[in-house]
Amino acid sequence: MVTASARRGAAEMPVPPEAAQNIRRKLDAGLLPREVVGKMFTGFGHNKRCDGCEMVILANQVLHEFDTPDGRIVRFHLGCAGLWEAERRRRGWLRPSSPSEDDRGSLSREPEE
Ligand SMILES: [Zn+2]
Repeated sequence: MVTASARRGAAEMPVPPEAAQNIRRKLDAGLLPREVVGKMFTGFGHNKRCDGCEMVILANQVLHEFDTPDGRIVRFHLGCAGLWEAERRRRGWLRPSSPSEDDRGSLSREPEE
């Protein structure tokens, strides 16, 4: 039986605890885009800084990279991309596009008896 909380184990690498705060702060400040316009590339890092946690994405780490409408390039670790996506979902900026993903895991309310 798979529960919603079991998904937390999906992260493949440790993400620094401040990464989530960083990403939240940057979303607040408008430094990170709310959505991907265009194509998201996935590959391996090339020693450029992650826009989420500010740490270098090493060549043996998975990198997510995409262009923003204003011509910047945003790079994330795999884990930071997940945090970014989770934060956008939490704020309601992420349109539910994939039917396999149920976003009600954290909102499950149990009727009181
Ligand atoms: Zn990162």
